[in-house]
Amino acid sequence: MSILAKRLSAIKPSPTIAVTTKAAELKAQGLDVIGLGAGEPDFDTPDHIKAAGKAAIDRGETKYTPPNGTPALRKAIVAKFKRENGLDYKPEQVTVGVGGKQVIFNAFLATVQEGDEVIVPAPYWVSYPDIALLFGGKPVFITCGENARFKLSPEALAAAITPKTKWVVLNSPSNPTGAAYTRDELRALADVLLKNPHVWVMTDDIYEHLTYDGFKFATLCEIEPKLMDRTLTLNGVSKAYAMTGWRMGYACGPVELIKAMNMIQSQSASHPTSITQAATVAALDGPMDFLAPRNEAFRQRRDMVVKMLNEAKGITCQTPEGAFYVYPSCAGTIGKTTPKGRKINNDTDFVEALLDEGLVAAVQGAAFGLSPYFRISYATSTQALEKACKRIQEFCAALT
Ligand code: GLU
Repeated sequence: MSILAKRLSAIKPSPTIAVTTKAAELKAQGLDVIGLGAGEPDFDTPDHIKAAGKAAIDRGETKYTPPNGTPALRKAIVAKFKRENGLDYKPEQVTVGVGGKQVIFNAFLATVQEGDEVIVPAPYWVSYPDIALLFGGKPVFITCGENARFKLSPEALAAAITPKTKWVVLNSPSNPTGAAYTRDELRALADVLLKNPHVWVMTDDIYEHLTYDGFKFATLCEIEPKLMDRTLTLNGVSKAYAMTGWRMGYACGPVELIKAMNMIQSQSASHPTSITQAATVAALDGPMDFLAPRNEAFRQRRDMVVKMLNEAKGITCQTPEGAFYVYPSCAGTIGKTTPKGRKINNDTDFVEALLDEGLVAAVQGAAFGLSPYFRISYATSTQALEKACKRIQEFCAALT
């Protein structure tokens, strides 16, 4: 008899973390692998944020805080939503977690019961379905293909909603495709949601600040305030502020849900570290001028990667609006054979062979629920990216 709980059989290790870990291992063994697997900015945490973390230590802010964060943090989060999104929340509507992932975990633990349906547009970030599955939920995937620019249509959403639907997860700009919803597209989705008052919405806005070519980000409740009483608006500092290792996610929503999530938090991690909380206040309240040059670098890298991938034999790649990912199709490589004699039957074979024979780490589309594609994170130096794209071109050219 295994010691392990049955519920674990429903989930698997995070594939994005697995690829990142594998690339790091291969590098440690001395292989010249270029990792494009990790969804993590290569930029450093800005100095004023680091300084706020250090100052918190020096001031002795190294003790327990409330599970929903210090009053200063809650105030900064409420102010952020007002200033940047025009949303009016009160401090008692704030919840925080050790990364956005823990906030999602707390939300689903608090609400998802056996058989509840959670609508997840595919391709999706790997952890949404698995966290729902852990609590007995049933992910309902809606395929949003390349022709739809990987975005959910109001018709498809309406068709997927049943009396058992508990949540719809929206993520814009998206991990893994970089696709972002315009105001009109959100309006159309909001109209469907208004007709289905039993459905709750989790809107994961963690890539909010990473948009290009003048794209204007909007979040659902900004477009339709009537959805405020059943939306969890989720965000975090990892991506825009390059704070992945600090682990800070936050969300605002209706008090009943938030109270339950904070209760769960009090019985698990207690709270994100006091030092991270102080640094987050500095991030949210502080200057944002560091962002424009970083975004310009991301845009240039995106354009280079899209161009070079489209030049690779058998690969096609769209230009997305935001985040730091592209989601190219490898359909033209399926059925081919590598110089070492490996047959490429699907995108998992493609990324495995690319890693072993081309020394580039990427994540297979199968992990995100749409094949045959793969995800590339361009949050790495331009030089490394260019080298990686050349390797992909050479790898593809050598397939027969
Ligand atoms: N969100 C990032 C990614 O997709 C970090 C790893 C993870 O949490 O999945 O690569």
